[in-house]
Amino acid sequence: MAADLTGALCALPGEKPSDWFREREDTVGGKAATAHAVRTCLMCPVKTACLEQQMAVEGRTAAASRFGVFGGLTGKQRWRLYDTVRRLAPTVTAA
Ligand code: SF4
Repeated sequence: MAADLTGALCALPGEKPSDWFREREDTVGGKAATAHAVRTCLMCPVKTACLEQQMAVEGRTAAASRFGVFGGLTGKQRWRLYDTVRRLAPTVTAA
């Protein structure tokens, strides 16, 4: 079931989807656009639901195949989060 993303700041008039989905984040324009997307996400009231949903959608997807900014994280950052959780999960025990 899709998360309720009502109130998403990226959906406000004037925001450009291309800021969230840059083909290349390593260009001057790409860095500025990605920084804007990340800043906006960090103020977004639905950032947790957005990130959780995207992490579920991407599952075990490799870093190079994760595109866009969701919940304030780039594709590479989401892969690092996934990898960290995956590595720590076996050490977490129920109380
Ligand atoms: S966290 Fe970012 S990508 Fe997700 S809904 Fe909010 S503004 Fe959009």
